Amino acid sequence: MNYQRFFEEAIDQLHAERRYRVFADLERIAGKFPRAIWRSNGRAEEITVWCSNDYLGMGQHPDVIAAFQKAAGKMGSGAGGTRNISGTSNPLVALELELADLHDKEAALVFTSGFVSNEASISTIAKLLPNCLVLSDELNHASMIEGVRRSGAEKKIFRHNDVAHLESLLQAAGRERAKLIVFESVYSMDGDIAPIKQIVDLAERYNAMTYIDEVHAVGMYGPRGGGITEREGLADRIDIIEGTLAKAFGTLGGYITGTSAVIDAVRSYAPGFIFTTALPPAIAAAATTSIRHLKRSQAERDAQSRQATRTKQVLAAAGLPVMESATHIVPVLVGDPELCKMASDRLLGVHGIYIQPINYPTVPRGTERLRITPTPFHSDALIAALQDALVETWDALGIPYGSAGRPSVTKSDRIIPLLVPKSGG
Ligand SMILES: *Cc1c(COP(=O)(O)O)cnc(C)c1O
Repeated sequence: MNYQRFFEEAIDQLHAERRYRVFADLERIAGKFPRAIWRSNGRAEEITVWCSNDYLGMGQHPDVIAAFQKAAGKMGSGAGGTRNISGTSNPLVALELELADLHDKEAALVFTSGFVSNEASISTIAKLLPNCLVLSDELNHASMIEGVRRSGAEKKIFRHNDVAHLESLLQAAGRERAKLIVFESVYSMDGDIAPIKQIVDLAERYNAMTYIDEVHAVGMYGPRGGGITEREGLADRIDIIEGTLAKAFGTLGGYITGTSAVIDAVRSYAPGFIFTTALPPAIAAAATTSIRHLKRSQAERDAQSRQATRTKQVLAAAGLPVMESATHIVPVLVGDPELCKMASDRLLGVHGIYIQPINYPTVPRGTERLRITPTPFHSDALIAALQDALVETWDALGIPYGSAGRPSVTKSDRIIPLLVPKSGG
């Protein structure tokens, strides 16, 4: 038996499908975000990162770094144990209070990542409900799909953001059966937003529980960074709000918030919460500092929103196939895995611009794309450089432009019209 052969074949398969993943070796430079040092073939080069989920640059905020350093200096590097066995540090307790307050819920529970929070919470909640039917949006994140799968509960998938389809499934299940609707607020690959109010209306009408993933929205939307549910005044009508500390909050960890009973049950029954070491106190302290800052400060959200809008306008005006997006995420369609990888390689190697290609299975085949995430630190000059680099790359590789085609003028110094219709998608 040649065991190694099976692993080699599995990898060959990915190469053949042009979706073998290559990681960029990066060193982020605190104080110079989004600049980073990229190491490749023995060389080190300073580049611009255009695909980070550190959406507001909070990972380099001086107060956040100071809180991290101070807590590490006082309490050491690790948590020293699981939550149950010596790992519940005071900064972690404070973080959970902060998160419950952020979403105006009775309680919160922190996990070691957003992935773990979804997998552990959805599986535990659906398992504790008798004969639960899980209704899951078809574009839900892998972590939610894993949670549903592990629950062992029956599941029905509703078409993406399709409330009529969801209603027909709720109706068929009837009011008496336990039902859990799991969905996201911001879908991160397309940048669209769920019809949360309509979903909540349906949940109330058909007596279902609701679980929303606000991972891409916390810190970003709502007057205190409480997400789309805060912005739309719907947080109190959602049963469980889940989020991450690793994207806009710039640190690490995931969490759920909800009633004391739900949180206590997950705390008490979820293996993914119980049998793993707690988040280190330094990370908890840094996360709390970041959340508190974004509760008070609009400056980061305003600047981010401005730069995202400008990026969309500038790229669309150059005829690039910017996909329709209701949020801060700027997807640019390539539509082919090989070209998408080549475009990414060229942007990095020739232009010093890093945008990871997004291929199947993260997005459907034929919709391979570059997913661009502008932050407050992506200046107008960086946006102009991005436009020039993308146009050069599109031309060099013969990637199709949007339906409107490429306008005759493509230099970044020309006047940008205020409202440019988005093309392609
Ligand atoms: C990134 C992501 C997660 C996982 O969060 P991590 O903290 O990175 O583990 C969960 N849900 C969605 C929708 C995500 O995009």
